[in-house]
Amino acid sequence: MTIQTAQRDRTRVDINLLDRASPDNAALHSTAMSRIEIITIGDELIDGRLVDTNAGELSARLTDLGFRATEHRSVGDDMGGMIEALRTAADRADAILVSGGLGPTGDDLTAVAAAAAFGLEIERSTEALEHTRRFFTERGREMPPNNEKQADLPAGSTVLPNPEGTAVGFRLDAGSCRLYFMPGVPRELRRMAEESVLPDLKDRLAATPPMVATIKLFGKGESEVAHLLDGIESGVPDGTDLIVQYRATFPEIHVRLVVESRDRSAAAAVLDDLVEDARQRLGHHVFAVGGPRLDTDYPAFAATTLADAGMTLAAAEIASAGSVAKMLGSSDPGRRCLRGSLVAADLGVLRDQLRPAGVSAEAVAEAVRLRFGSSIGVATFGSAEATGDDRPGTLTVAATGPGGTRSRELYFPIDHDRFQRLAAYAALRLAVGISRI
Ligand code: ATP
Ligand code: MG
Repeated sequence: MTIQTAQRDRTRVDINLLDRASPDNAALHSTAMSRIEIITIGDELIDGRLVDTNAGELSARLTDLGFRATEHRSVGDDMGGMIEALRTAADRADAILVSGGLGPTGDDLTAVAAAAAFGLEIERSTEALEHTRRFFTERGREMPPNNEKQADLPAGSTVLPNPEGTAVGFRLDAGSCRLYFMPGVPRELRRMAEESVLPDLKDRLAATPPMVATIKLFGKGESEVAHLLDGIESGVPDGTDLIVQYRATFPEIHVRLVVESRDRSAAAAVLDDLVEDARQRLGHHVFAVGGPRLDTDYPAFAATTLADAGMTLAAAEIASAGSVAKMLGSSDPGRRCLRGSLVAADLGVLRDQLRPAGVSAEAVAEAVRLRFGSSIGVATFGSAEATGDDRPGTLTVAATGPGGTRSRELYFPIDHDRFQRLAAYAALRLAVGISRI
């Protein structure tokens, strides 16, 4: 992800920092001061067997809520290291989110380390024991004796329920810092964070959620998009900061507009205007506009558009190697829309199978449409490597249906993975185009 901040904004940021220190800005000041650290525990995180997705996910959720994680730290399953990490963080942080090491095995030491770090006894929690026992009985199983260990918590802990697993989490205060201990299993951690940890955090610490809009595009490169948005900050009033962030998720470009202002309703109005301006500048390449967590991708958008128009689709896929079917198959509207897909190594195979009235992509799109009895047929020809007279990266896509027939030739000398993806996107785009006529 690249962050683009216009020169003008940088000057503003400086002024803003001065503002934040002034006493009339107490709320922002205290938010800026909230220090939330994340500690993830496990040898696998340190020796490279496991990528730390928990820290990333927790940070993203904190950001959504207007907090900011000030530090991520990972420590191995080592008592000394864990005690040091917990004490160091508790000395300076308002809250610490801890992941991992709550299981029943010998390497799960987190509760003992937490007790040792803050001079607490370990006590067996009847509430936690009950939780773990119930987890087993509800599944018709006897609780193995070593699972009892998961109920041994530092004295004074508050149990955090774990609806997804055997180990409860717990919460603990050390001085003015509150620590939240969650299991390492991502599904368990996610739910515990949503249901128990983040709500408690919101009650305790002030947060200023940033005003964020996400705009997603397909059909333009990152630098073209940046060029089209050049100068968009000129309409932003004084006292308000705009950060424009770009992220390329091939072949989509995602733009985030982040507006920061002390006056939230003014910021909302500014953001609305900016989104409108950006839409005008970016034109029909925009396929989705929403908040910070906009999760619609182009295939999902295409699937919804086609399904809403009552269209069904069949594909003949050389260049896309089945990606059209896979992309549509991953959403409900897409599954409703997809009639079938024929994946072929080359045109010869398609001609044997479909007997098209010609060799063009349009003719094959029409033949596959008839074969599956769908309203729209699409065809993708080409390869990331040289085939026949074609250069590597030559792509031809066609779509035909009640709204007419369209085709496009593109040239993208890129790796197979991205080429296949692009081919499917291009075919879906043509299908959307003819579904709207
Ligand atoms: P368990 O009861 O399964 O032992 P636990 O709370 O002890 O749970 P860990 O043993 O630390 O958690 O981790 C369990 C599994 O969860 C790991 O093997 C790994 O697959 C996943 N996991 C742990 N920590 C992380 C992390 N930071 N990011 C992503 N996945 C993780
Ligand atoms: Mg474990």
